[in-house]
Amino acid sequence: MDILNSTIEELRKAMDEGVLSAVDVAKAYEENARNRNDEIHAYLEIFDDVEEQAQRADEMIKRGEIYPLTGIPIAIKDNILIKGRIASGASKILENYTASYDATVIQKLKEQGVVFIGRTNMDEFAMGSSTENSAFGETKNPHDTTRVPGGSSGGSAAAVSANMALVALGTDTGGSIRQPAALCGVVGFKPTYGAVSRYGAIAMGSSLDQIGPFARNARDAQMVFDAIKGSDFYDATSLSESTLKEPHKPKKIGVPRHFLTKGVDKEIMEAFEANLKKLEQNGYEIVDIELPSIEYALAVYYIVMPAEVSTNLARYDGIRYGVAKKGETLLDDYSKTRSNGFGDESRRRILLGTFVLSSGYADAYYRKAHAVRGQIREDFKKVFESGVDCIATPTTPTPAFKIGEKASDPLAMYAADIFTVPVNLTGVPAISVPMGKVDTDGASLPIGMQFIAPQYHDGDLFEMAKDFEKINNIK
Ligand code: GLN
Repeated sequence: MDILNSTIEELRKAMDEGVLSAVDVAKAYEENARNRNDEIHAYLEIFDDVEEQAQRADEMIKRGEIYPLTGIPIAIKDNILIKGRIASGASKILENYTASYDATVIQKLKEQGVVFIGRTNMDEFAMGSSTENSAFGETKNPHDTTRVPGGSSGGSAAAVSANMALVALGTDTGGSIRQPAALCGVVGFKPTYGAVSRYGAIAMGSSLDQIGPFARNARDAQMVFDAIKGSDFYDATSLSESTLKEPHKPKKIGVPRHFLTKGVDKEIMEAFEANLKKLEQNGYEIVDIELPSIEYALAVYYIVMPAEVSTNLARYDGIRYGVAKKGETLLDDYSKTRSNGFGDESRRRILLGTFVLSSGYADAYYRKAHAVRGQIREDFKKVFESGVDCIATPTTPTPAFKIGEKASDPLAMYAADIFTVPVNLTGVPAISVPMGKVDTDGASLPIGMQFIAPQYHDGDLFEMAKDFEKINNIK
């Protein structure tokens, strides 16, 4: 059996029937992860107890204590806490921070007996679209190692793409699951805000952050989502499971073509239109929709998000968290610790966030952005109320770019999230599914289709994505 190319359900069956053990599965993944990590650098750390974890999964299987994910190898983004292990957020300031508790998603996965392969690289504190903002070196795109995997969850996307884990967890504040999924040719899902507990995820923008899965197909992603969703006492914004709607396959797909005119590669638009045609031939109704305020989404995001970032990152002061640097006075300690510990992008966002919240400017920037955010949310609501079941866009305006290409141009980097950011601002769920490849400079690079559903309709997106894969003959 080809372990590295099997789905969760295929491995589940093989393990339950005793054809394979969890140790066999874990060893295959760990070996491949270790072999490829020098080249790809998807992992900051591959755990040294992978086999022991798998043995415990095998004992569970022997006892008949079997869950959908028992013995399934998974990679975890380095901003999700696993008790007793380092969680650095790919920042120097948390380089040696060991988690003192499990994130709720980790606790749920542990109860199912998953096998954690390691912690994956990311942009520092999840800020970036290329994984180049990691304090520990960049991750390479497995489809072309001269290119970025996307970000900020680039390590998780690359790990799944290069068979270094079967599935992975990432976080998505403005696109950090969907964008790297698209650039690495895998599925990435951002749940409805609140569908998954944020407890134990290192906070970036608390009104935007969600944890979600990466997988090589929609069914595997759905199984991971099913395992991690649900209400949580420790996250007051989490939703009870009954809030999520029963899944229905969408019929009517809305396309905001007015928003897809600027800055999108021609090849991506061609692939997108060709895929819409295929959907139409398979019985879907494709209609044009208007989202009048969506053009402000990126600007709104780059005010709301830094405001929340500057607040959330205040705790890394060398006293509560962070490697302390001693100065002359307490204020000196703070300033030495923070200027030494944070990278450029973190600093840029702390400065921006502090500015937009400052007295005299908060009305002009933060409160105005907040009001426009409400407007964008209304736009989406209206479209869904008009009978559209889901919205489709390309996930990204370009395929994977070269390492270094946008590193010194923050605005160009921010534009990579143009189609993903509106989703976080409105709190709705969205999925990125591979929609083919484009040829650029001799490389064949994957691209993604994004489907967006109304709030609580997470299940519809999996039905949509599974059918999309079927139409495209993807396993
Ligand atoms: N790339 C976006 C940013 O830099 C999104 C990040 C994320 O979703 N964590 O903010």
